[in-house]
Amino acid sequence: MSESTIFDKIISKEIPAEILYEDDQVLAFKDINPQAPVHFLVIPKVRIATANDINEENAKTVGLLYVTAAKIAKQMGFAEDGYRCVMNCNPHGGQTVYHIHLHVLAGKALGWPPY
Ligand code: IMP
Repeated sequence: MSESTIFDKIISKEIPAEILYEDDQVLAFKDINPQAPVHFLVIPKVRIATANDINEENAKTVGLLYVTAAKIAKQMGFAEDGYRCVMNCNPHGGQTVYHIHLHVLAGKALGWPPY
């Protein structure tokens, strides 16, 4: 098991977060340093360090990150306009917190490519 991260403290409520959705498997909260008008993270409660650790056993949990993103997009009213889901992996992907998280970015037409 990899080292714990700040997201474990958000899950356990040791540090505060602006929570948008929570159930027994996933948690969604606003990113502290938003890169778009809407920017939140969806994480599994079980720690999976990077996208490289996604496998057949945890695939259902990872799928729930997308289910949750779509649910929140509809609730917040930006599903039709659209949004971007990103999971950064390791240094070249720009990953800084080693507990997988789906970035959900919305609220404007986003640029592409991301460099
Ligand atoms: P990464 O660079 O893809 O690993 O994304 C990590 C994200 O976590 C960044 O967008 C950070 O702004 C965000 N982040 C780090 N600490 C916190 C926090 O305490 N609350 C909310 N978001 C955080």
